[in-house]
Amino acid sequence: MALIQANNISKQFGGIAALKSINIEVEQGEIRGLIGPNGAGKTTFFNVLAGNYTPTAGTLLFAGSDIGKLSIHERVSLGIVRTFQNIRLFSSMTVLDNVKMGYHARTSSGWLATAIGRRWVFDEEKRLKENAISLLERFGIERIADEQVGNLSYGHQRRVEIARAMAAKPKLLLLDEPAAGMNDTEGQELVRHIRDIRDQGVTIIIVEHDMRVVMSVSDHISVLAHGEIIAEGEPEAIQGNQRVNEEYLGKG
Ligand code: ATP
Repeated sequence: MALIQANNISKQFGGIAALKSINIEVEQGEIRGLIGPNGAGKTTFFNVLAGNYTPTAGTLLFAGSDIGKLSIHERVSLGIVRTFQNIRLFSSMTVLDNVKMGYHARTSSGWLATAIGRRWVFDEEKRLKENAISLLERFGIERIADEQVGNLSYGHQRRVEIARAMAAKPKLLLLDEPAAGMNDTEGQELVRHIRDIRDQGVTIIIVEHDMRVVMSVSDHISVLAHGEIIAEGEPEAIQGNQRVNEEYLGKG
């Protein structure tokens, strides 16, 4: 069964049809690339998946259940977690504290335990810190744990954002332009991290303009243009697809 099944999803903004009855199925454990020119509808689709937008029409199934009416928070609780095109970290907080925040995303009740007793909070805090540090180690950024996020390079901030998303224990991770602002070396490191995340059983959809990153990391790619899926297939087939080259890749 597909983890995500989007059936005939449309999204209209006044007179603008951002998504025109699109169908996308993503299998459990897959890395799916979503590419297309500016304004194609990629971010709109992410917003529909994450619950920021209600589609004008269509149904959305997650592991076979209709999630179309669930709030953003309910979807996070199910394991649908995203990063943003414009990084949304707490820039005045440290790297470690940002990642610790990620653990609270999945359960809003975390700090209710405060009422239960200080000992519990102390143990919980210690556990959180250990978990957060081991996540930072996985992403190779443990050395900057105590730095303020606002002082970091863009590439580092992107990694912190992914680490924070992973703290929420996603089943489906939506990455919105994770390579933006990264150099080639950072891009290739990102590819390794994304594969590593998938190897832990997380399904990933990645919106990305950096073709080296998206072509090397994706199992399959869906190409959106003018709110429609114009092609779908393995990276090699997409690179050789005439329509995709005319509408997007050839324009680089
Ligand atoms: P980019 O690669 O530039 O991020 P995109 O593929 O993510 O582009 P979207 O941001 O989804 O494209 O935009 C699709 C279309 O919907 C565009 O025409 C955009 O102007 C329009 N649109 C998106 N969000 C809104 C909104 N909140 N209100 C009105 N129009 C919107």
